[in-house]
Amino acid sequence: MKPTHIEHIGIAVNSLEESIPFYEKVLGLKCYAVEEVKDQKVKTAFFKVGDTKIELLESTDPEGPIGKFLEKKGQGIHHIAFAVDDVNTALKNAEQAGVQLIDKTARKGAEGLNIGFLHPKSTLGVLTELCDNK
Ligand code: ZN
Repeated sequence: MKPTHIEHIGIAVNSLEESIPFYEKVLGLKCYAVEEVKDQKVKTAFFKVGDTKIELLESTDPEGPIGKFLEKKGQGIHHIAFAVDDVNTALKNAEQAGVQLIDKTARKGAEGLNIGFLHPKSTLGVLTELCDNK
């Protein structure tokens, strides 16, 4: 696996509405998309910074992954996503290297990307996402 760049950084927030103004007014970025990802129980807002995006994540269900994260840790960086050529190949390589996977195979994430997560227990405490744009 050889990531080409950081595709996005996922940040858990209590409210998109309350968080977007910081990124727009203070950092001067433009929110170009807001999207609900139903199976992840989140609403996302996206900003571009060069080749990398900031993905704000608001929970739509306290039992969802972001709801639980906010409950335990509060707002902050939730995950880092690396762009790879092929998520399924990258997941297989990671598993062969002894990494615990959250996703055995790629699934669809926001913006139609194929995504797969590695378990933070195997990645020095950082929830790590791999994505491709096929
Ligand atoms: Zn993500």
